[in-house]
Amino acid sequence: MRYQKKFGTFYNSKRWRELRAYKFATNPLCEECLKKGKIVQAVDIHHIHPIDTAYGWEHRYDIDNLESLCIECHNGKHESRQSSMTKFDKMWEELQLKGGNKND
Ligand SMILES: [Zn+2]
Ligand SMILES: [Zn+2]
Repeated sequence: MRYQKKFGTFYNSKRWRELRAYKFATNPLCEECLKKGKIVQAVDIHHIHPIDTAYGWEHRYDIDNLESLCIECHNGKHESRQSSMTKFDKMWEELQLKGGNKND
């Protein structure tokens, strides 16, 4: 699927890998665990606004849209997202479509 390929290309891009490495270097610990006073090594970089949304895609290289997470917290984020984020994402995507803003 073309839609999926776009994300694959993004995750393989040099720019993303460098940004990811930079984020790991600045925030080597899981930021969620840290909030609870736990010291856990981060293993994933999470997009706060997921890149499969119009807004998240626009901010895919935005350091403020990134969060260092351990596997457990990362899974937790994606589970809770299903309920709370889906509505908002839909709205955004529709807005973008109506605007006729096509950038690929
Ligand atoms: Zn964690
Ligand atoms: Zn994530």
